[in-house]
Amino acid sequence: MMMAARENLLAAARERILVAEGGMGTMLARLGVRVTNTAEANVTHPEIVAQVHREYLEAGAEVFQTNTFGANLPALERAGLADRAVEMQVEAVRILREVVGDKGWIAADLGPTGELIEPLGTTSMEQVVGVYRQQLEAMVPAGVDFVLGETFESLEEAEAAARAARAVAPELPLAITMSFSLPNGRTSMGVTGAQAAERLAELGVDIIGANCGHPEGTLIALGEMSETAGDRILMAQANAGVPVLRGGETIFEGTPQWSGEMAARLMEMGVRILGGCCGTTPEHIRQIARAAKASV
Ligand SMILES: [Zn+2]
Repeated sequence: MMMAARENLLAAARERILVAEGGMGTMLARLGVRVTNTAEANVTHPEIVAQVHREYLEAGAEVFQTNTFGANLPALERAGLADRAVEMQVEAVRILREVVGDKGWIAADLGPTGELIEPLGTTSMEQVVGVYRQQLEAMVPAGVDFVLGETFESLEEAEAAARAARAVAPELPLAITMSFSLPNGRTSMGVTGAQAAERLAELGVDIIGANCGHPEGTLIALGEMSETAGDRILMAQANAGVPVLRGGETIFEGTPQWSGEMAARLMEMGVRILGGCCGTTPEHIRQIARAAKASV
C-alpha cells in the first residue's frame, strides 16, 4: 500500500492554502449512477467513483475524502445494504488511495447517521459513537491520513464522531465541518458558527469548518468561527450556490466562477482548506485552485 510519505496535513495547511475535492453524490448522479445510498457505488461502479476522484486530482485538489458519506450502519440499513457495509467502507479507501497515491491526503469520511440523538431523539450518544467506531475500525486500517466528519447539523453528531475518531485513530488529524443550512448562519438544529467553533475546540478537533449548507449561512458561520477558532485550521466545502427545484430536479446554479469568488471571500476570513460540496464539479475545483494560487 502507498502510504503518504509526505508532510503533515496540519503543517501544510498552516503553510499554504490546500484545495480539497468537490461533490461526489451530484457527480455520480450526473454520470448516470443510480443508487439508493452513494456508498453503494463503491462496489457497483468503482471505476466511476475513481474517475470522479481522478478528475478532482487533475483539477488541483490535494485533500480527498472517501465516498462513504452514507456508509454508516443506520443509513445502510435504511437502504437494505447493511450486510455489505464493511466491503463498501474498505473499497472506498482502496479506490481513493489508488487514485491519489502520495499526491494528497485522504480522509475517512463520516456523514450523518440520520438518527436524532437524545434528548431530541431516541438514539443514545453511545449508540452513535458505536456506529462511527464500526466505520473507522473498517477504514482506518485500510490506510487513511485523517478523519473527516461532515454535514453535521447537531453538536451531538460532532461529539459522537470526535469520540469515535479519538478512540480508533488517536494518531490521525481530525476534521469536522458542520452544515449551516439556514441563510442566517445556523444549522437546521439552530447551531451558530460561534457555538460550533467553541464546542469543536473543546472536543479537540484539529480542523473545523463548514460544508454543504446555504452559501450565505456558510459565510456568516465561518466569519464567526474565524473569530473563535484559535489555532484550529479552518476548512470550507460550500455547495455550488442555493439548490433550486426545477422540473422535479434539484439544480445548483452556482458557476465555477461563482465558486472561485466564494473561495476568495473565504480565504479572506482565514480559511486554509477549500473545496466544494453538492453541485460542484472538477471545473468548480479548478476555479477554486486558481483563486488559491492568486492569493499568494
Ligand atoms: Zn453537500
